[in-house]
Amino acid sequence: MRAVKAVQQHYRSSPEILRMLDGFRLMLNACVQVGLAENVTSLKALSLKAYKQLAAYDAMSYYKLCAISGATGILRNYRRAARHGEKPTTPYVRRLRLTTCYGFKIKDGNLLLPHHPGTTIRIPLTPHVQTTIRKHAVRSVTLTQGKLSLAYAKQVAEIRPDGFIGIDRNLNNVTVAATDGSIMKHDLSEATRVKATYREVRSRMKRNDVRIRREITSKYGRKQREKVVRILHQASKMIVQQAKDRDFGIVMERLTGVRKLYQRGYGQGRWYRGRMNSWSYGELQRQIEYKARWEGLPVIYVHPHGTSAKCSICGSRMARIPEENRKLKCPSCRVNVDRDENAARNILARGVRFAPVALPAEAMGQEPSIGNPESRWK
Ligand SMILES: [Zn+2]
Repeated sequence: MRAVKAVQQHYRSSPEILRMLDGFRLMLNACVQVGLAENVTSLKALSLKAYKQLAAYDAMSYYKLCAISGATGILRNYRRAARHGEKPTTPYVRRLRLTTCYGFKIKDGNLLLPHHPGTTIRIPLTPHVQTTIRKHAVRSVTLTQGKLSLAYAKQVAEIRPDGFIGIDRNLNNVTVAATDGSIMKHDLSEATRVKATYREVRSRMKRNDVRIRREITSKYGRKQREKVVRILHQASKMIVQQAKDRDFGIVMERLTGVRKLYQRGYGQGRWYRGRMNSWSYGELQRQIEYKARWEGLPVIYVHPHGTSAKCSICGSRMARIPEENRKLKCPSCRVNVDRDENAARNILARGVRFAPVALPAEAMGQEPSIGNPESRWK
C-alpha cells in the first residue's frame, strides 16, 4: 500500500515564477471552458478536446497535461454541486496554483522546475523540507504565490489490528469509541468559533457588491480555513497516535450526501452548514485517513445511515429528539447516553462487523453492543 504525505515551506516567488503560475491559471480556465462547452468530464475526453487549444500557450507540455487534469477535477466538482440542486457559478480560477507530477527534479537541496526548453527555475528547499523528504520519493509539487508543497510517498505494510476505534464528528467535538471500551472526546469548539466569525464578517457585507465581497471573503476565508486546518491537525494527530499506540484500526462514516451534513450542522444558516461544515468534516477525515495509512493502520468506512438513531447498548430505536439535546434516554434499556458517544459506538460496531480480521471475543458481541457498557457510562 502506498501512503502519501505533504510538506510545505515558504519561498520567494520571482516575476518569472509568477508569470508561469499565471500562465498555468489561464490554461486551466481555457480547459474548463472547453469542458463546459463540449460537456466532457473524463480526463481522456478532455485531453482530446483541449490539448489542441493549449497549443497557443507558451508552456511546456508537462504543464499542459497538468492543466487538463486540474480542469477535470474542477469540472467534476461543478457537476456534483449542480446534481445536488445547488446553482453553482461557472467555475473560473483566480488563484495562482500549479501542481505538477512531471518534469521536476530535486538536486543538492534545490527544487528544479523546467520552465522553457533549456531553462530551469531553481527554488532552494529549507533544511526541514530536505530532512523530511530525504528517505522518500517526491510524487508531486504544488506552487502557489510564496508557498511550495511537496507530496512524498512510501510503501507501507498494513498492520493486523488488535482492535478498532470508531470516530463520530460533531459540530463542536470529535468523539472516539474504542473496542477496549474507552471513550475520548476532542474539543473542536475553537474551530466552530473561527467558522462563526467568518460567517459574521461575510453577512455584514453588502449583498450587491459582489466583486469586493468575493475578494474579502476569499482572502479572509483562506485565513480562517488555515486556522481551522491547524485545529483539525491537532485533533487528527492525537487520534491517530492513540490508535497507533494500541495497534487499532479506524472506522469512520462515509460522508456522501450533502443532506446529512446539513442535518448535523444544527442551528446555523444554510450557507454556513453547507460550505464550511461539509468542508471541515471532509478535511478531518482526510487528515485522519492519510495519517493512519502512513502508520499502516487500516481505515474502514461504514454507511452513515441511522448511526445516531439507535441505542448502542440494546439496539432499540431512540425517540426523535432535537439535535440540541446532547443526552439520549433509551426507551427500552433505560440507559442515559451521551449522544456523541452513542453515535461513535454505533459507527465502531458497524465497522467491527465488517472488519477483515478476528478480534478479541469481548469486542465482537452483537451489533450494536460492544464490551461492557457499565464501565463507560457515568
Ligand atoms: Zn437501549
